[in-house]
Amino acid sequence: MFDNLSDKLDKAFHVLKGRGQITEINVAETMKEIRRALLDADVNFKIAKEFTNRVKEKALGQDVLSSIKPGQLLTKIVRDELAELMGGEAAGVDLSGQPSVILMSGLQGSGKTTFSGKLARYLKTKKSKKPLLVACDVYRPAAIDQLHVVGDQIGVEVYSDRENNDPVTLAQAGVAKAKELGCNVVIIDTAGRLAVDETMMTEISSIHKAVQPNETLFVVDSMTGQDAVNTAKAFNDVLDFDGVILTKLDGDTRGGAAISIKSVVNKPIKFIGTGEKMEALDVFYPERMADRILG
Ligand code: GDP
Repeated sequence: MFDNLSDKLDKAFHVLKGRGQITEINVAETMKEIRRALLDADVNFKIAKEFTNRVKEKALGQDVLSSIKPGQLLTKIVRDELAELMGGEAAGVDLSGQPSVILMSGLQGSGKTTFSGKLARYLKTKKSKKPLLVACDVYRPAAIDQLHVVGDQIGVEVYSDRENNDPVTLAQAGVAKAKELGCNVVIIDTAGRLAVDETMMTEISSIHKAVQPNETLFVVDSMTGQDAVNTAKAFNDVLDFDGVILTKLDGDTRGGAAISIKSVVNKPIKFIGTGEKMEALDVFYPERMADRILG
């Protein structure tokens, strides 16, 4: 994960390694290298620049130049700032509803159906919940089949109605079904499109209004870099969602989406997808991710 970024950051700190004393020039050089590493990882220019400015300020404030281990101290400042940038404290999902309604949003192919299954499995096995999966993609029959396959795999009931092609009443019927079955969580998988468009936004926003979810999650493919961030912004403007799910972090992703998304939409990353299997789900911990990035 983020191998390229980790290598580049490691190199950025190289000039400082083992030095008892460093100069302002060393710090400036390191900041330049860090900024370059972030830009290469597809972090946008403004975020990268503000990041290194904050690190520089903190380094001055903590008197890095006259500390005993300046390299170590500077690395720690970068690590803490990276964790802060990615989200501060870890955030869970709201399970207080009776049932709790969780609405998935995102583009087609982002990993919504896969994540819906992963989340259902996680809530069932780790939180002793009884979830119901609801198939609301009325455009692609294959998407309904896919959710049924996922449900069978994890032993979770799936509600679908191939006769109904209105996603709003489908979602409402899903919530009613959950009550009837005594399920305490409803996960609504919605249709996405290949790019942001008005029809998709109107549809997801109508579902959102109709079911008033406890939790609206935005699912995004981390491999899409800056596009991921732009898409997040578009969905957040319409839905004011509660959290982000970053999928495909097991792939050859550069890391830009993970690093920038929180500061652009000001919503926490809640989970990450690290594979196609139902178990490949991790709760997102910004501090752990920062440690991983810095190697
Ligand atoms: P949807 O259109 O948003 O519902 O997306 P899908 O759930 O169908 O996922 C699209 C593709 O991405 C599928 O082939 C999934 O197996 C794959 N996928 C989803 N999440 C992950 C992940 O975390 N890692 C990897 N490697 N593949 C994933």
